[in-house]
Amino acid sequence: SERIVVVGGGLGGVRSAERLREMGFDGQITILSAERHLPYHRPCLSKQIITGEWTPDDSLLSFSGDLDAEWRLNSPALHLDPKKQSVWVPGGEEIKYDGMIIATGVDARAMGGAPRHDPRVHVLRTLDDAVAIRRNIRQSQGLVAVIGGGFIGCELACSVRHMGRDVALIVRSPALLGGVVGDDIGKKITEAHVEHGVRLATGVGIKHWVRQPGGIGIHLSDGQVFFASCVVLAVGASPAVDWLRGSGLDISDGVLCDSTNHVVGAENLVACGDVARWPNMRFNGVVRRVEHWLNAVEGGRAAAENLLVGRNHAKTYTPVPRFWTEQYGMRVQGAGLPVLGTDTTDVNGLTGFIANGKLVGIVGLESPGKIITETPELFRQNTVETNVPVWTQPEPAAA
Ligand code: FAD
Repeated sequence: SERIVVVGGGLGGVRSAERLREMGFDGQITILSAERHLPYHRPCLSKQIITGEWTPDDSLLSFSGDLDAEWRLNSPALHLDPKKQSVWVPGGEEIKYDGMIIATGVDARAMGGAPRHDPRVHVLRTLDDAVAIRRNIRQSQGLVAVIGGGFIGCELACSVRHMGRDVALIVRSPALLGGVVGDDIGKKITEAHVEHGVRLATGVGIKHWVRQPGGIGIHLSDGQVFFASCVVLAVGASPAVDWLRGSGLDISDGVLCDSTNHVVGAENLVACGDVARWPNMRFNGVVRRVEHWLNAVEGGRAAAENLLVGRNHAKTYTPVPRFWTEQYGMRVQGAGLPVLGTDTTDVNGLTGFIANGKLVGIVGLESPGKIITETPELFRQNTVETNVPVWTQPEPAAA
C-alpha cells in the first residue's frame, strides 16, 4: 500500500497527518521527528512553561486517536532525493515514499559573538529549551538578560517579571516588536514593560561578552554593562532546511512552494508551516514564509489535501495569516501581512497597514475576537469602512 512520510513532528506535521486520515487515506503514515517528544504547543513555551503555570505535560498537543501513524521520534531526516522519492534517517536507513509532507519548522537563530557553549546561555524554540531556561532561572539569583525585542523576547521578559525576577531586555531596534504591530501599539507594549520593571535597553548593540564564574557580562555599544546569571538569545529563527542541501530544491529561505503547497521542482512533495515559502494569491502573490501557529494548522491541512488530490487538482492556499501575543495580561492580535505595510491608518479602532494605498494587515490591542473573527471577512469582502481598498485578488479559477 502507499506510504506518506511526514518530516517534522510539530504542529504542521501532526495536523497534516490528521487531515490525510480525514480525507480517507488508508496507507501508511510515517512521521519523522527530530525531537524526543510527541507534538507539543510552542506558544506556551515563552509563557506558561517559563512561569511554571504549566508543566511540560500540559503542553502536549492532543491529536486524533485514529491517526494510526508510525512515530519515529529522535529520528531526523538527514537527506532527501526527490527524484528517487527517498529519505534517509540515522543509521543509514533509506525510506521510500509515495508522498511526503515537509513540516520541519524553523530553528532559533544563533548570534555571532555570543558564548555558544556556556550552559547559562540559551535559545528558545523547543520544550527542552524552555525547561532548561526555567531551571537556570530558578537555580540562580541574578539578572536574566533577554536579547531581542520580537514576540518571543518580549513574552519571555514578561514571564520572568511574573516570576518576580530581575530582567533586562536588550534590543537593537529603537522599539519593541519593531515594525510588526505598528508604532502606537509598539509604544504601549514598551511602556508596559517599563511599568512592570523591565530594565529596557533599546537601540543598542552588544560590543562584547565577558564570561565569569558568577555570571556573564554583557557590554553594550552605549557603554552600559549588564551582569546576568541567565541569558536568552531571542534574535529570530531560520528555516530547518539543512537536511535538504543537495536535494536540488530551492531552499534559499525555507522550502519554495507553488501557490498550492506543492514544492517547486518535485513531485508528490508538499510543505507547510514555518518552513514553507509560497506565493499567497490573496496578497498579489507575494512569496513569503509565515511563522504563526494558525498557519501551521491551516497550511498543514491544505498541504495534506493538495498532496492527495495531486498538483493538477490542487486548490490555491490563500490564507489571511493571523497571530496573537500576550504580555502583562494584554492581548495583541493581528491579521494579514502587516510587515508589507509602508504606512498605517485607523481602521475601526485597529491599526491598519497600508502598501500602495491598499490594506495589507490589521493589528489590534485588547480587541478580543474582533480580529480573529471579523478580519478574514474584511479581507474577503473587499469593503472596509475606511475607504481603504483591500489588497486582494479573486482566487484564480481552479485548473
Ligand atoms: P514546529 O512546531 O517548529 O515543528 C517542526 C518540527 O520539526 C520540530 O519538532 C523540529 O524539531 C522538527 N524537525 C526539524 N528538522 C527536522 C528533520 N530534519 N527531521 C525531522 N524533524 C525535524 N505563534 C503564534 O501565532 N502565537 C504565539 O503566541 C506564538 N508563540 C510562540 C512562542 C514560542 C516560544 C515559539 C518558539 C513559537 C511561537 N509561535 C507562536 C509560533 C508557532 O509555534 C509556530 O508557528 C508553529 O509551531 C509552527 O509549526 P511547524 O509545524 O511549522 O513547526
